[in-house]
Amino acid sequence: MYRSHTCGELRMEHAGQPVTLAGWVQTVRKFGSITFVDLRDRYGITQLLLGESLNAQLDQQPLGREFVVQVKGTVTERTAKNKNIPTGDIEITVSEFSVLNGSKTPPFTIQDDTDGGDELRMKYRYLDLRRNIVKQNLDLRYKVNRAVRNYLDSRNFMEIETPYLIKSTPEGARDFVVPSRMNPNQFYALPQSPQTFKQLLMVSGYDRYYQIVKCFRDEDLRADRQPEFTQIDCEMSFVDQEDVLNNFEDMTKHVFREIKGIEFNEPFPRMTWDDAMKYYGNDKPDIRFEMKLVDLGETGRGNGFKVFDDAELVVGINVTGCSEYTRKQTDELTDWVKRPQIGMNGLVYVKHNADGSLKSSVDKFFNEQALKLIADQCQSQPGDLILILAGKEERTRKAMSELRLEMGERLGLRDKNVYKPLWVIDFPLFEYAEEENRWVARHHPFTAPKPEHIHLMDDLSQYAKIKANAYDIVLNGTEIGGGSIRIFQRDLQEKMFSALGMTKEEADHKFGFLLGAFEYGAPPHGGIAFGFDRFCSLLGGSETIRDFIAFPKNNSGRDVMLDAPAAIDQVQLDELALSLVKK
Ligand code: ASP
Repeated sequence: MYRSHTCGELRMEHAGQPVTLAGWVQTVRKFGSITFVDLRDRYGITQLLLGESLNAQLDQQPLGREFVVQVKGTVTERTAKNKNIPTGDIEITVSEFSVLNGSKTPPFTIQDDTDGGDELRMKYRYLDLRRNIVKQNLDLRYKVNRAVRNYLDSRNFMEIETPYLIKSTPEGARDFVVPSRMNPNQFYALPQSPQTFKQLLMVSGYDRYYQIVKCFRDEDLRADRQPEFTQIDCEMSFVDQEDVLNNFEDMTKHVFREIKGIEFNEPFPRMTWDDAMKYYGNDKPDIRFEMKLVDLGETGRGNGFKVFDDAELVVGINVTGCSEYTRKQTDELTDWVKRPQIGMNGLVYVKHNADGSLKSSVDKFFNEQALKLIADQCQSQPGDLILILAGKEERTRKAMSELRLEMGERLGLRDKNVYKPLWVIDFPLFEYAEEENRWVARHHPFTAPKPEHIHLMDDLSQYAKIKANAYDIVLNGTEIGGGSIRIFQRDLQEKMFSALGMTKEEADHKFGFLLGAFEYGAPPHGGIAFGFDRFCSLLGGSETIRDFIAFPKNNSGRDVMLDAPAAIDQVQLDELALSLVKK
């Protein structure tokens, strides 16, 4: 028996008991003839007291950081108690110890505020994972996983594994491909999601499927993405949108209850995609605070201010309580919107002063009367600051959405301990891909159009108006899940492929299996997938999903511990019938 207890377990009630512990040496402190050791394992830290009688052994066999040791001793009440750790009332008076394994000096300190930089910690991720803070994240991830499974299990969902070596599934990203040795010059693709498989399972009658599953997308990795990530992937038959939303709203509530002890008594708000764009400037609104976008086209134009007059969009936000911003502060905000990432040429402000008067950065063009119209439209109060951007429609809306989030951040309105989920519904079916010069599926090509919009699919000029039965669940400005009601009839699916510019042959070649399956009694179905890593990071109050993945990749998609991706040798290449070109 290596141990009788863990390092997180012993309390005053164990005082006097003989115990055996095993773990890692966190610190060694010598006080005269006595040595104190903090012994650590997954469960916590226990203080060891090694008295004079062990000094000879210690001299011969000095203990260093991260040594693995086993100790036998007695639980004793401490004289100087440590209120900061659960085992802080006791220590182990050690009678014997043995070193099970030594350790090199670790490249960084294994504690919460480590001195190790990102790259170093990733290279030695197995040591990083010993840190309490990282352990807590993985612990939370496991708890979320369990809560999700318990919920889905209680609702008759069945977990079914689907293959990783498949044919390309279009979810809007590039595929990772795997060459086939047995079929030279042919490639598998790794799934971007199990989308078509879960739909086939519906055709097969497994009416409630789920899988906590790896997905692979070869995307550029800005904005906290990972090339492989985990989804809670779900599908249901004989459901309409309302059924799916209700079921997964309940699942989300269950997770919050289990993990955070938070009870959502009200239904999650629902917002149409059109409203999200109009009032928040993006499709994943952070509704922890208001500061909605106000279209100032009518009041803003016609005052002889060319910037507004020529703009496709003039849009403002009312920032509560900021009328006393100094020149320096408004200049700094102007610089902020001019940064290349935001890309605006300037910022206009209107101060609604505490005495009720209005003062703007464009007083030359706007008299008191004109400013009042703007203030009225923004519903500003004395003490508020109105910020206005103008320019090309899409860019300006996006910039204002960013500025709104920035102001929310600066004013402390985005408290990460406050959770505001909502559903965004009625997404457009298509979106125009400028680079490719064609319409693409906004969600994916299996998403059903709203039945009343199907007839618009015959007219290219109407594409922008077609709405889908597609939805996202959004939490604090981040999309945590998305899904749709699916097409389940062959002819409509063919129509969709053709709307996306696919010939009949192409559609048959790529999706013959699905089109074929739709001819054998496909039930109406729909589903959703949650980004599991992201959901965990939000529940854990962290910005980055990497913190919640045991072995993540870095921003260039590299595993710096394995040093992957890497070259393979000529024998392997030959077997795969591959030859390389120099890049
Ligand atoms: N497969 C979709 C995705 O990965 C989710 C879904 O439609 O269920 O986004």
